[in-house]
Amino acid sequence: IQKSGILEMVSVKESIDDIGGLENLKKWLKQKAKIVKNFDEAKQYGVDLPKGVLIAGLPGCGKSLNAKVAATLFGVPLIRMDMGRLMGKYVGESEQNMRRAIALAEAISPCILWIDEIEKAFAGIGNGGGSGEVTTRLFGYFLTWLQEKQNLTFVVATANQINRMPAELLRKGRFDEIFYVDLPNEEERRKIFEIHVKKRRPQDLNNIDFSQLARRSNGYSGADIEGVVKMAIEEGFVQDKPHISTEGILTVLNDTPSLKTTMSKAIDELT
Ligand code: ATP
Repeated sequence: IQKSGILEMVSVKESIDDIGGLENLKKWLKQKAKIVKNFDEAKQYGVDLPKGVLIAGLPGCGKSLNAKVAATLFGVPLIRMDMGRLMGKYVGESEQNMRRAIALAEAISPCILWIDEIEKAFAGIGNGGGSGEVTTRLFGYFLTWLQEKQNLTFVVATANQINRMPAELLRKGRFDEIFYVDLPNEEERRKIFEIHVKKRRPQDLNNIDFSQLARRSNGYSGADIEGVVKMAIEEGFVQDKPHISTEGILTVLNDTPSLKTTMSKAIDELT
């Protein structure tokens, strides 16, 4: 299962301070971390076993980042399951793959089982999407497992498109919670700029007008902002500048299309 790339142990170095914004999600993860770390006590107290969370939303807005930070907060290994690879070509293969992957994760538990792009496997089920018998059976197996599992294999499922997911999966009681990550607002963008400058050029933190950067970056995702900061640092180096500056970052920003612009262009081309 590991050799085939269906399951992968992800090494994590990200901490909660690496996430700008998404305060509700961060607060929720911290709460679950306390429960997971002290589960015997929590159970005695009457707390239910945590099952997992579904994080859906736009690309580059922190879904994977949150899966990683959850592993750091919980203090457990992070195992990523690749849904694309799990779907075998032969009848029965995907189901067997999933059973084996889940058995392995359970053997390692407590752990986080990160199911990346969960919609790749289950999109269209129950929506007349013609998903086929195998996928429907696989989905049934997954749902039952999710509902009945009695160990600390905490699921973090991530998805770009929640609207293509089977309603059954979104019903109350499947996941403990569903979060939608959207483009960051102005305050969140300011924090994201700060995080990425601090990571690479802490000596320049005081040179930069983060409020201005935040105001001028409406429509940019977290990943866009990280890309802009990296490029501005590269430019600074190549041009032999002793420091990176607000102007330097703004120049790169102006030359970089935001996720929002890219998405609206794609929609325009389709219509
Ligand atoms: P995809 O759907 O494409 O997998 P994603 O939502 O999982 O996207 P991430 O992989 O979490 O996106 O984000 C890519 C990178 O962008 C992160 O590693 C991080 O450096 C940066 N980033 C995204 N969101 C944030 C944020 N809220 N705060 C700080 N950095 C962020």
